[in-house]
Parts: sequence; structure tokens; C-alpha cells
Amino acid sequence: MTIHPQIEALEALARIDAELKDLNDALTQEREALRGKQSHLAGLDDRLERSRKSTEEMERTRNDLMGEIRQMSLQVDRSREKLSRCRTEREANAAQRELEELRKLYRDREQDIEKLELLIGQAREESLSASTERGSLASELGENQTDVMGRLAEAERSLAEKTAERAGLVPRVDGPLYRRYEMIRKRKGTAIAHTSNGTCSACHMQLQPMLFQKLFQGNEFGQCPSCNRILYFRAESRAEPESPTEPA
Ligand SMILES: [Zn+2]
Repeated sequence: MTIHPQIEALEALARIDAELKDLNDALTQEREALRGKQSHLAGLDDRLERSRKSTEEMERTRNDLMGEIRQMSLQVDRSREKLSRCRTEREANAAQRELEELRKLYRDREQDIEKLELLIGQAREESLSASTERGSLASELGENQTDVMGRLAEAERSLAEKTAERAGLVPRVDGPLYRRYEMIRKRKGTAIAHTSNGTCSACHMQLQPMLFQKLFQGNEFGQCPSCNRILYFRAESRAEPESPTEPA
């Protein structure tokens, strides 16, 4: 009994699994890039909203302080007038102290307002740059959306096609062999390897002559002692381009 039909079915399965893996990787990458941009946009929206609230709050506080300072300015005027009307030295000293205290409070308030103005200016600048960034990101997303959605739909379509094709192939592989194939594929990414000249095509390990002889007869599959993949003999003439070395 020859295992040739099984080899053909396994090879077809391995080809389709490799295509499915590439498609899935591409889909994941595309989706992640899209999600990354969307979450960056949401982050900018949050930042803008927070900045707007805090600017409003600072502006309210500044306006309150400006009201206070106008009141203080009147108090300073009144206090100065009182000083000019003083008759005794004691009265004059007391009025002078009051005036100085008021002036100090006035200066403190002025400094508070200056600090706030500075912070408000910074917040506005930050808001402006976040808003510019948001604008270009949003338009980039908008422009690319059709392309991205098209690519995603296309990849999903191919994925569905290949998955159906794969389902048609599975019955062609013997049950136990298929289960072994799946177990190894899930662990290693690829499950089959061939030998033409005594080495494993996947891990390039030199096989024992006994094993090679057995595979050469072409009646049964073997297992690579190094990478555990399903092994079979393939004549040199059938050799395809050398596959890259895979991890053992
Ligand atoms: Zn191997």
C-alpha cells in the first residue's frame, strides 16, 4: 500500500494552512492598526475635554480674583484718604499699617492672577496642538477608512474561501494522521516535513539510516526525532525551492 495519496492530501493541507496563517496575520495587523488609531483619537478627545474643563475653571477663578482686586483697589483708595485725614501720630501709624497690609494683599492677588494667566495660556496652547493632531488623525482615518474596510472585507472573503477549501481537504486525510497533523501544527505552526537525502526539510537534522530507509520505501510516514514533524520521503526531482529553516 502506498501512502502517496495521503502525502498529496497532507501537502495540499499544509499549503492551505500556510495561506490561512498569512491571511490571519495580515487581518490581525490591519485590525490592530485601525484600533490603534481609533484609540489614539479617543485619547485626544479625552485630553481636549479635560483641557477645556480645566481652562474654564481657571478662567472662572481668575474672574473672581479680578472682582476681588477691584474691590481692594477701592479699599486702598479709601484707606489712603483716611490716612490723609489723620490728626494724631497714633492714628496716622494705624492707618499707614492698614494701607500697607491692603497693598500687600493687592500685590498677592495680582501675582495669583498673573500665575493663572500663564497657566491658562499654556492650557490653550496644549489644546490647540491636541486639536491640530486630532484634526489630521481624523481626516487620515476618514480618507483611509474605505481602503481599510475594503482590505478587511477582501481578506475576510479569502479567509472564508480558504477555510471552505480546507474543510473539503480534511476528509482526504486518514483520521489518526489528521489528528496528529493538527496536534503538531498547533504546537509548531507547520506539521509536515520531507526528506530527500537523509535530512529533515524542516529542522535539517540528519536522520538515522534506518529511519531514512523506512521512509524511502514509501509505505509509511515517520516522525522526525528532532522536531517531531510528520516525515515522508520525497524524491529529489520533486524537490521544490528550499524552504527556510524553521525552529526545531
Ligand atoms: Zn525535523
